[in-house]
Parts: sequence; C-alpha cells; structure tokens
Amino acid sequence: MTQYGFYFDSTRCTGCKTCTLACKDKKDLPTNLVYRKVFDYEGGMWEQGANGTYQTTAFMYHLSLACNHCENPACLENCPTGSISKDEATGAVISGAEETCIGCGTCVQVCPYGVPAVNPDTEKSVKCDMCIDLVAAGKQPICVESCPLRALEFGPVEELRAAHPDAVDGIAPMPAGTETVPAIVIATCPAAKMPGDTEGFVANEWEVAAN
Ligand code: SF4
Ligand code: SF4
Ligand code: SF4
Repeated sequence: MTQYGFYFDSTRCTGCKTCTLACKDKKDLPTNLVYRKVFDYEGGMWEQGANGTYQTTAFMYHLSLACNHCENPACLENCPTGSISKDEATGAVISGAEETCIGCGTCVQVCPYGVPAVNPDTEKSVKCDMCIDLVAAGKQPICVESCPLRALEFGPVEELRAAHPDAVDGIAPMPAGTETVPAIVIATCPAAKMPGDTEGFVANEWEVAAN
C-alpha cells in the first residue's frame, strides 16, 4: 500500500477557508458539518520597556486540517463494530460503513485531532475520505484543487516528506505526542508554534467547534 497524505504550507495560507467551503460543497454537507477546518491560532501581547518604547510578541497564523488518514488510526482500532476501514490503494481511512455503523461516537472521542463527527441526520460517523473518488480518477482532492494560495498539496506521503525535508508532522493547535502517525506534512511559518503549545489560543473556537 502507498500511503497518501496532505502537505500544508503555513507560510502561504491566508485563512480564507475556500478549502472548507469547496469540500462542503462537493460533499453537500448540512449547515452543522464541515470535514476540513481552518484554525486561526494567535497569541502574544504588547509590553512597555524601561525606555518607554513598546515591543510585541504578538503572532497569528492559520492551520487547515482534515482527517490525517493516520498510519495507525485510533478511530479504526477502537471502532466497536469494525465500521472504519483503510483503503488498500491509498491508505485513506473511511468511516461510517452504512450497514454497520451505530453512531456511538467512539471514533469522535479517540481521534487525537478531533476529526470525526456523527452526522445527526444519518447517525453515522462522517469525516474526510481523501476525496477517494477524485483520486481514483487521477485527480486531486477538491480542497487541494480549490486553494487559491496553493497552500495544499496531495500525494504519496513519503514523496511529500522528501520534497519538503524541513516540514514537520504537526503544529499548534494540534496535540503533542500522538501515536497515530498522521499522514500530514506541514511547512512552518515563522510564527508557528509546536504541538501542545500553551502560549496561543484558537481565536475562532466557535467556528471550528461547529461540527
Ligand atoms: S486523524 Fe483521526 S479520524 Fe483521521 S485517521 Fe487519524 S485517528 Fe482516524
Ligand atoms: S480531501 Fe475531500 S473530503 Fe477531505 S477535506 Fe479535502 S475536499 Fe474534503
Ligand atoms: S483555501 Fe488555502 S489559503 Fe485558504 S484557508 Fe484553505 S489552505 Fe488556507
């Protein structure tokens, strides 16, 4: 199996959320669901020095995140009904099998990145499926296609890692120390904080919590 994944360039992303809306449109999602979220992360302050001048530690940046299609997916390993699978060809993690998913929300609780949701209308687990239909047709996921800043790339994750050797597999507000091996490659902007950071906060918490 070739594990595919996303590359996200935080030096390019303007937080426009075109990726979120293109995905929502393709997937025809209801108002209370999104599969790709853009986190606005910020922090710092202004401080007056002894000579009366002000200095700032203020920072902000954006993080566009969907399912990381992990190599060791906690969602798949903990689903009590075996309703989450990993695609043989791409490594895409697919949730909510129509026949067996009981909407218990275990995947929602165990995913370190807060990715899956239970669709209140269908009571099935839902999340990003890597646009597996487009990928099978030799195309790019719609979020990648739609980004006006070309901040997203998609491909075999080892190729993405090789093409971006300075990239990392997480920045705040992603959590530190997960064992799921996320198939994501992130270029860090100068303001970027590492996973588990406590200096900053998610400024659009109300928006990304709407899921
Ligand atoms: S990011 Fe979460 S939902 Fe996606 S594969 Fe990893 S553990 Fe599962
Ligand atoms: S790959 Fe497709 S389903 Fe996943 S976030 Fe991108 S547009 Fe949405
Ligand atoms: S479309 Fe591109 S620039 Fe806009 S929020 Fe998404 S990743 Fe960032």
